[in-house]
Amino acid sequence: MSSACEKVYGYTVEDFKQNANLWFDLILEEDRHVIAENQVLLDQGKSIVNVYRIRHSNGDIRWMESKLTPTMNADGQIIRLDGFTSDITQRKEAEDALKNSEHKFRSLIENAVDAILVLDEKLQINYASNSVYRITGYTANEIMSRGAFSRLYEEDKLQAREVLQKVLHAPGKTIEHSYRQVRKDGTVIWCEGAAINLLHDEAVNGIVVNFRDVTLRKEYEDALQQSNEELKKSNNELDRFVYSVSHDLRAPLSSIIGMVELIEADASDEMLIGDLKLIKDSINKLDGFILDILDYSRNSRMELKQQEIHFPELINDIVSGLKYMAPENRQIDISVNIEALAPFYSDEGRISIIINNLVSNAIRYSDYSKPDPSIQISVVADAEKAILIVKDNGIGISKEKHDKIFEIFYRVSKVSKGSGLGLYILKETVEKLRGTIQLHSELNKGSEFIIELPNLHKTIS
Ligand code: ADP
Repeated sequence: MSSACEKVYGYTVEDFKQNANLWFDLILEEDRHVIAENQVLLDQGKSIVNVYRIRHSNGDIRWMESKLTPTMNADGQIIRLDGFTSDITQRKEAEDALKNSEHKFRSLIENAVDAILVLDEKLQINYASNSVYRITGYTANEIMSRGAFSRLYEEDKLQAREVLQKVLHAPGKTIEHSYRQVRKDGTVIWCEGAAINLLHDEAVNGIVVNFRDVTLRKEYEDALQQSNEELKKSNNELDRFVYSVSHDLRAPLSSIIGMVELIEADASDEMLIGDLKLIKDSINKLDGFILDILDYSRNSRMELKQQEIHFPELINDIVSGLKYMAPENRQIDISVNIEALAPFYSDEGRISIIINNLVSNAIRYSDYSKPDPSIQISVVADAEKAILIVKDNGIGISKEKHDKIFEIFYRVSKVSKGSGLGLYILKETVEKLRGTIQLHSELNKGSEFIIELPNLHKTIS
């Protein structure tokens, strides 16, 4: 025994000489079978390697590797054993750590929700994770023996082949795929996943394909799409219905107004004239309501147009059309200021709905108790946008109602003469033009509506 024994076992050569059993006693009981088993080979004259654990004199457990070569006499009996022993504890620990980490990753893959396949360059499946069974009903072995495309839905096979060809030709690139598979029980499921060619990666050396069952999600998506289409269809029908009903209602209304005016022309009775005026007011209110609905329906039905807007003419027309709204013998001062820095393109019909609503509200809600009821309309248009402001010194709107007034059929006061549709239509129309609305208003002081609209000559071709 060389003196290095002391380093390895923690006992001196002398200790070993004094106790012939010491070496065997140091070996952990559960590893002694290794020695006994290899003894058979030694007896046959074969060299052996024993790997076992000992308890070092300091109490540590250490891994040993002993290589032994027997020398036999002519009768086949061992007459001498040459050997050397190394402490392989560090190597063993490193091997164990490697095994553990491999075990960890394998178990991660085995227990992953996604199914994982590894294919070789001929697209043969070399590995299939456990989840494959959960998703397809085929065991990993069945999957491997059946080939990559056998479980795919017939109509999707070609596309799957194309995806895998793409993967083959783009090493390292993740390519997503979605196709149907036929489960072992015959049901068809939708799968979705990704594939990556890692043939060049020594540790993997394969094409890694993962997939999961997304049938439920697909079914929801399909149902959602279908109900969306139905909703769109019934919305369109509703729009068309509203439009044609509103349109048809206006004709008899103007006949009624005409007849009322005929009666009015011949009437001399004061009370009758007063009653006829009330009838006319109600008919005009009804007509205004129908016009609002027509505006709403036009905005939601009609495609966005892109026309050059001539603000001066447009605003003048609107203002002269609305002036009659102010009560007789009440004056309202309307000023218009337009700065056109560049041609402005948008949808004239919609711009007209916006200005009409703002100006008619400013007139309707003006405060005639003030000495100078006034409305200022201003437009600044450049290559990017137009800012349209309608400002009045009317009755104003209290802060807490600022958001509410844009809701459908909302009127601040029940005595309001309008339909409660105007600002709702305004908001919808501004949104259609991809613009924004700001409101500054204070009760009894007045209101300012600021509308910003993009110049559409850039965004629409
Ligand atoms: P309406 O048809 O009742 O005018 P709108 O949707 O146009 O409906 O306006 C909603 C409510 O907002 C109105 O009832 C009114 O109370 C308030 N409002 C709108 N514009 C003004 C304004 N310029 N000044 C004061 N109040 C306004």
